[in-house]
Amino acid sequence: MSVTVQNCRTCGGQWFPARLLCPRCGGADLAPRSVERGVVEQLTHLGDVVIASVACDPEPLLVARLHGPVEVGDVVELTDRPEPSGRCVAFVPPSGIPREELS
Ligand SMILES: [Zn+2]
Repeated sequence: MSVTVQNCRTCGGQWFPARLLCPRCGGADLAPRSVERGVVEQLTHLGDVVIASVACDPEPLLVARLHGPVEVGDVVELTDRPEPSGRCVAFVPPSGIPREELS
């Protein structure tokens, strides 16, 4: 269970979603990197939906939909697939998937 971010081999920047060029150094040497966990920095409750900013080590800061009880400072597992089991995970939709498939 993980989310794929982009790692710049020139400056070490970590990006999500994927870019053509690194926003920090302009480099094109970008490679995928799996990130399994992050720390919840902020929570926003929208009815029954909980959205969080989740900091990865050291980057990027991801926006995720949380499933399960979570508090600020908790470490959560990241996934790019919806998690129907009720386990506490942070869902980050992969870029390029039509909205209809995410509901
Ligand atoms: Zn870079």
